[in-house]
Amino acid sequence: MAFSATNLILQKLEPVTAERFEARLVLDQLVRGDILQEPGREIETVWFPETGLVTIASENVAGDIVCGAIVGANGACGAFEACGSRRSYSRASVQIPGQAWRIRAAAYRELFDASPALRDAMHRNVELALFEARQCIACNAIHDVESRMSRTLLEIAERSGAGPVLQLTQETLAQMLGVQRTTIAVTASQLQRANVIRTWRGTIELLAPDRLERLSCACRQTIAYVRSEIYGSDSSSCEA
Ligand SMILES: [Zn+2]
Repeated sequence: MAFSATNLILQKLEPVTAERFEARLVLDQLVRGDILQEPGREIETVWFPETGLVTIASENVAGDIVCGAIVGANGACGAFEACGSRRSYSRASVQIPGQAWRIRAAAYRELFDASPALRDAMHRNVELALFEARQCIACNAIHDVESRMSRTLLEIAERSGAGPVLQLTQETLAQMLGVQRTTIAVTASQLQRANVIRTWRGTIELLAPDRLERLSCACRQTIAYVRSEIYGSDSSSCEA
């Protein structure tokens, strides 16, 4: 296939589906601030990020925004909904610029119906996303902000492919962790004093990823283990 995908789902496609996908995929830029999906709107496009980061967030009537998922090369935006109600109930917005393959939702549905490998890859992606969401609920209840922030920074760096310098505001990080912006500021300054990270205008640099690993809550290892189990297990029995 001409496109050399780093996206975890596209990597799982068998050659026949990859060729069909390739004819309908367009590589597009993800620009910081771009809104890919709005609550209540029909899903018209499915996105498979190669680099960059998209947050899937909910907003209440008071205007509070809480991020429910972060999507980079590990997943897709709109893929679940395109085959379900065909509507979005969250806002998907680009936080870290990058590139993504996009495909029309109708074309995606055709390929989904035709390809056991694509269905298997998406079912595993849903399974992992659900597990991460459940783990996140437990994490919020029992783990402190520093350990959650350490884990989240490492996940952002990995999923976005951005390397150690993240173009990310503290406000966005607060939405990802579901805490006040001032809490993030206090925790970030603690990590900065310890030379683990460095922050300046809209940027967070990971100076010592190995120390962030040690500071991360146990959810990091738990999620890594479940990810390897879900993606490492044999899928042949599902393709009959
Ligand atoms: Zn945790």
